[in-house]
Amino acid sequence: MQSWPAPVLPELPGRGPVPRLHDTATGTNVEASPDGVATLYVCGITPYDSTHLGHAFTYVAFDTLGRVWRDAGLQVRYAQNVTDVDDPLLERAIATGVAWEDLAADQIGLFRADMESLRVIPPEHYVGVVESIGLVVKAVVRLLATGAAYRVDTDVYADLSVDPRFGSLSHLGAEEMDAFFAERGGDPERAGKRHPLDPLLWRGARVGEPSWDGRSLGRGRPGWHIECAAIAEHYLGVPFLVQGGGTDLIFPHHEMSTSHLRLMTSCPDPAAVFIHTGLVGFEGHKMSKSRGNLVFVSRLLADGVPAGTIRLAILAHHYAQDWEYTGADLATAGERLASWRAAAATTPDGGSGDEPGSGARETLARMREALADNLDTARALTAVDDWAETGTAEGVVLDAVDALLGIDLR
Ligand code: ZN
Repeated sequence: MQSWPAPVLPELPGRGPVPRLHDTATGTNVEASPDGVATLYVCGITPYDSTHLGHAFTYVAFDTLGRVWRDAGLQVRYAQNVTDVDDPLLERAIATGVAWEDLAADQIGLFRADMESLRVIPPEHYVGVVESIGLVVKAVVRLLATGAAYRVDTDVYADLSVDPRFGSLSHLGAEEMDAFFAERGGDPERAGKRHPLDPLLWRGARVGEPSWDGRSLGRGRPGWHIECAAIAEHYLGVPFLVQGGGTDLIFPHHEMSTSHLRLMTSCPDPAAVFIHTGLVGFEGHKMSKSRGNLVFVSRLLADGVPAGTIRLAILAHHYAQDWEYTGADLATAGERLASWRAAAATTPDGGSGDEPGSGARETLARMREALADNLDTARALTAVDDWAETGTAEGVVLDAVDALLGIDLR
């Protein structure tokens, strides 16, 4: 699937440190030291209500990680899926009287445009589920063959009891698992399953639903978690370094997709580190499709809010924190952007390549240090604030703000 155009990243002098990152599975900050290549899988959108600020918060956070890795001299290999066929998408298409393919195409187009405006570096592999049916079928057939999956009528389910490490990401108790599973797309009541939590791998064709040739599985469509497992295995291989997404994906989605990968590949830890971004609230509740309290990036842009202001409003919050969006976030970010731009305007030629002075070197060092500390973007912004107030205007600071924070001050 086509992604979106990449921003040009300026080169910075020297190298930043490899970041320490908070791993959800162990609850500790870990030194993720890849051998020259950093691999990242981030769960993408289901294209029916994109792109709200909660989405943008997640993708800007992982964009920051990619920028910090690049600054540390690593090659970044990044895959992101698009859940371009799934129950909520089909339900919305029926409710609004449009073809599900058209709804998906429109929303993916909007997402691409928003990501480009926000200067998010596109993933190397941007992969739709519809174009990955063959990968999913292969994975499900393999799980059936090894006894890690079973059929219920024309559907196929994973047998979680085969994976002794199931639960090692979320560490949830049985009751919490049951509640999240029911709330987040699971079907605990389905008759014929061996365990209520066993997740759907392949949904046999139903009248009025799209379906594809599943070879020995029969016609049908993929379950949710297996799509990410199949795409991650094919495009990144296991183990990969970081599995990312919002905290609402920890369970069941990431717990399940990791379990699938474990059983598909015999790799005990398919993802070395799990990173989860906080949820964005609005008017007292988590921003969610079901509640309808969404703030869209495209709407803010259409209202004349500069993309740099939106990006700065996001970066002012640590990626792991839940936060509540208010108009004050944009006002503060707008003032900050104006003060940075005023400082940038005094930069002699706005040029890069000159030997940086000590003030600029210190600003760059402070930004790198903050970002290497579990992506402390708020602290990195403070370093730039200090520069804007008192520092010497130099091209290298402009380059650093561009390369590390994705804000173009020129
Ligand atoms: Zn996923």
